[in-house]
Amino acid sequence: MVATYFAFLDGAFRYDCASCGQACCRGKGIAISAQQELVPLLGRVPRIAPLLQPLPGGYVRLPDVSDGCWFLGSDGMCGYEQTHGRAAKFTTCRLFPFNRVFRIGSTQVVDVNSVVCPIEDASGHGVHHAELAAELAAIGNSPLTESQVPLPSGAKELRWLALETALRDDSANFLDEPHFATFATQQVQATTRHLGLRGESLSTVAQLQTYLETLYGSTDSPHTATVSRRLTLLSPSLRFNALFRRGSDDYRRLVRKMPTQLLATFVLCVQAAVVWQKPLSLRAITELHQAQTELRSLLARLTEPAMLESPVDAAELPPSLAMTLRQLSERLQRRDASTVPLGEHLVTAAGSLPVAERALLPALLLRAGEALRFVPPHP
Ligand code: SF4
Repeated sequence: MVATYFAFLDGAFRYDCASCGQACCRGKGIAISAQQELVPLLGRVPRIAPLLQPLPGGYVRLPDVSDGCWFLGSDGMCGYEQTHGRAAKFTTCRLFPFNRVFRIGSTQVVDVNSVVCPIEDASGHGVHHAELAAELAAIGNSPLTESQVPLPSGAKELRWLALETALRDDSANFLDEPHFATFATQQVQATTRHLGLRGESLSTVAQLQTYLETLYGSTDSPHTATVSRRLTLLSPSLRFNALFRRGSDDYRRLVRKMPTQLLATFVLCVQAAVVWQKPLSLRAITELHQAQTELRSLLARLTEPAMLESPVDAAELPPSLAMTLRQLSERLQRRDASTVPLGEHLVTAAGSLPVAERALLPALLLRAGEALRFVPPHP
């Protein structure tokens, strides 16, 4: 029997097509199953054939334009469903926004599309796992729900599903915490126990928070609790997408970085909320998390020592930033850099900058690329 893992809490999210304007039905196109959905579609709408693009892997793409899908009615309703019934509706449309369905080993994973769909926090009264399970059972086998995602090395042996399920269920207890650091700490503790590690420092989260707040500013704001709640709701999905992206790192290494990566996203989202003067939506948090993949990966490791093999290019920068970046480069190339957390170097260097420029320093350090090497801890 196939186990199903939902990458969100039961009833966590709802969606409202009327207020969104059916963004998912405009300009995105639809992937339909060549085996199950193509012939019925051609039977119902023969003149659609010139628009179809058969793709490898058992899919056919039906492109549309940003004015709307060919079946989107002027009332915002799906004309295909209205005319032919819900059972005839294409799999991807039927499940949307919970249509990110994959197979990982023997487990079916159902994820939510929090980028295309402006999902909302439903406080447990949204779409339930049981409803989606029934919908999936009615759809049956389809390439659209069977897309294989490779396991990162070590994930199966280290029982990834047990840890992700426990953390997802645990997230319900942290939704009303005013600061995401509490849930990040819980994730560190649970991961440490799960992996049977000893000596994993619980002060890592507190230390990282200090570095991040020194560089980016305080996370004390009227929007902090809302951002924390929304990021906690999204955490199972964001973790799943980071752990199981193609070409991902060794599972043991990667899973240990998840809590601090999410803490980095939290700090960036709070700063964005301060600039924007309102909390970020679930979609905005997902987009920022994805857009800042490189930066959050660096920030998540500020508590580790790192060394630089060659100076970072400081050309064309304003004088204050250029000078600070050169000084930081020199520090990180010294032998003693290998014993000091990267965050210490960044915070010290940032101290010489005007406050408004400090937060640029980590992003500028990304210019180092592979010349920045993290020093493995002593065995
Ligand atoms: S078939 Fe219906 S639900 Fe799917 S994109 Fe078109 S209008 Fe939207």
